[in-house]
Amino acid sequence: MNDMEYGYWTDTRYIENVKYECGYCNALTAPQDAYLSKEYILTQGGLGAVILICPGCQSPTYMDRHKIQYPAKNIMKDIKHLPADVQGLYKEVCDSFSVHAYTGASILARKMIMNIAMEKQAEKNKKFVEYVEFLVEEAVVPKSTKKWLDLIRKNGNEAAHETQKSSGEETEKIINFLEILLRSVYEFEGEI
Ligand SMILES: [Zn+2]
Repeated sequence: MNDMEYGYWTDTRYIENVKYECGYCNALTAPQDAYLSKEYILTQGGLGAVILICPGCQSPTYMDRHKIQYPAKNIMKDIKHLPADVQGLYKEVCDSFSVHAYTGASILARKMIMNIAMEKQAEKNKKFVEYVEFLVEEAVVPKSTKKWLDLIRKNGNEAAHETQKSSGEETEKIINFLEILLRSVYEFEGEI
């Protein structure tokens, strides 16, 4: 008998038809082991919280009664040659995203993008969209990111001091742009 074969956790209940992206190992997974709330059992899975055990990495994910997942999928990428402070901030952005704190994640990601643009000699006190324009025009990021620029222009949510609520989808796009920027500035230049 080994632990993996018979499950790492004890006294779990059988569950099926729940799929999610594990925030620990990034696998799309459909567990069979879970801890079920009474409400989940009474409503036959209609409502009610569960703790799902990932069959791949054995880590527990809490799914609340409205099927909101904690931690959410992990969007942090392994980027080489990041200075420690930048790495720390990038982790905070992704950690905030993983607990659905989109507005905080979005503001911090925007701030990081603007700071990098200023380090690359962009003028101060510009709008967020103007910093992104600068990064695209100066070819700090690949040309392909121009599409993304059009998207932020449409979005209108431009200034960091405008604290309007951010959606998950919009925040994920900003974090993806930040990832491209970090790779271009630190990883790519660090490899040369
Ligand atoms: Zn996992």
